[in-house]
Amino acid sequence: MMAQNLAQLAEARFALTDRMFVACDDGRNFTYLEFWKLAGGLARRLTELGAQPEDRVAVQLEKSVEALALFWACVRGGFVFLPLNAAYTAPEVSYFLEDAEPTVFVCDKAQTDSCVVVTLSQLYEGLSQDNFANHPTSPDGLAAILYTSGTTGRSKGAMLSHWNLASNALALIDTWRMKDSDVLLHALPVYHTHGLFTATNTIFLSGAQMNFHRKFEADAVMAQLPHFNVLMGVPTFYTRLLQHHGLTRQATKHMRLFVSGSAPLLAETHREFSERTGHAILERYGMTETSMIASNPYESERRAGTVGFALPEVSIRVNSKSVIEVRGPNVFKGYWRNPQKTMEDFTADGHFITGDVGHFDADGYLVISGRAKDLIITGGFNVYPKEVELLIDALEGVDESAVIGVPHPDFGEGVTAVVVAKKGNTLNSSAMLAALKQNLASFKMPKQILLVDKLPRNAMGKVQKNVLRETFAKLYRPV
Ligand code: AMP
Repeated sequence: MMAQNLAQLAEARFALTDRMFVACDDGRNFTYLEFWKLAGGLARRLTELGAQPEDRVAVQLEKSVEALALFWACVRGGFVFLPLNAAYTAPEVSYFLEDAEPTVFVCDKAQTDSCVVVTLSQLYEGLSQDNFANHPTSPDGLAAILYTSGTTGRSKGAMLSHWNLASNALALIDTWRMKDSDVLLHALPVYHTHGLFTATNTIFLSGAQMNFHRKFEADAVMAQLPHFNVLMGVPTFYTRLLQHHGLTRQATKHMRLFVSGSAPLLAETHREFSERTGHAILERYGMTETSMIASNPYESERRAGTVGFALPEVSIRVNSKSVIEVRGPNVFKGYWRNPQKTMEDFTADGHFITGDVGHFDADGYLVISGRAKDLIITGGFNVYPKEVELLIDALEGVDESAVIGVPHPDFGEGVTAVVVAKKGNTLNSSAMLAALKQNLASFKMPKQILLVDKLPRNAMGKVQKNVLRETFAKLYRPV
């Protein structure tokens, strides 16, 4: 398929129509055209504030349609959207600002003087619904930078082009049979690829509607159930829905599709959900750098414990170290201002090395068996152990630490810190947690701190995290 600019594609599809696009949980709603004009007005505002094509626009806001419109403002204006988790603390944000050098930062409170800082309400004050002329960004030009991270160092900005995002949305529309009659329950955050791109772009380019919830609450979702027919969630959504007595075959009779991703869905959850509702959850696999890579099939068997097959035009292979490699129009342009890391993560023949370990089963379904990287995924959010370890190690009386994920009944994995005290020191877990809270977003906070005499190490002196995981897997004790 010929590569296209995302704004042009949206206009060729539904952006200029009066169809309903989004209904919010506070009662407001927006048609496609209203939303599109809002994005146009914002694009003009950002231009007035000094943003020029290719400039970064950083955004750290609570979830709202107005915040989402900023992404499309960037798409229209040729700016590069840079969303930041609202939970990030000031030191975390200042790293991203230094690295990305945005021209404008939209946030609730000013945290820098290195760029224009504006609040969402200032941006919207007197905003007119605008017929903004889109900047003709090439399909290969950047639409967004999403920060991800490595286990060894700081977060890296994944550069995503217009066609990276557009091609992926089109592949998902095709694979999941999205139709303009669909209504998606959207309860994911909009600073992460899942809620921002997988869910929203797929809807926006298929003419469907979203019911927009600021966060996932099982009661609210269950109450809305008759009014939507597609749900996209992280595994935690499904374990929570299973705890709800209202989740029955009858209540979900009208549902067309339940999709899960961002973290492994337990085969047990898949089976339980299917027994309760008669619906097989469709599990898919992707990552920030690549958007979606693989999906279970829509029509044939959705196999528990697998992520299915490569999306159209995407190719997947498993290398000699069992690490999954991927190539296709979905794969990002590289890490922002980090050619070294970009080079390391691509093979000579242009495949991105995902860092996920996996294999194909006898029928060709892709199975993810672990992560070569040490990433912890808790409630669908990524936590990079190194970042937490560095902060723990800096606390008074701490000799060293290792941060691991252990199975957690609700979050999939619970962040667990294993800590060794300096000789002659006694550590207090609660005091350590209080100190960490100053610098860490709450989803990264350890759910428990375990004090040990020493960390297990291999012959090369590396801490054996697999040994720690095995030792403490059954020792889940929240503090
Ligand atoms: P992120 O960049 O935040 O989207 O995280 C990407 C990582 O999430 C991948 O590299 C995988 O390790 C993991 N992941 C995403 N979807 C799945 C899935 N269905 N099963 C297992 N792991 C997954």
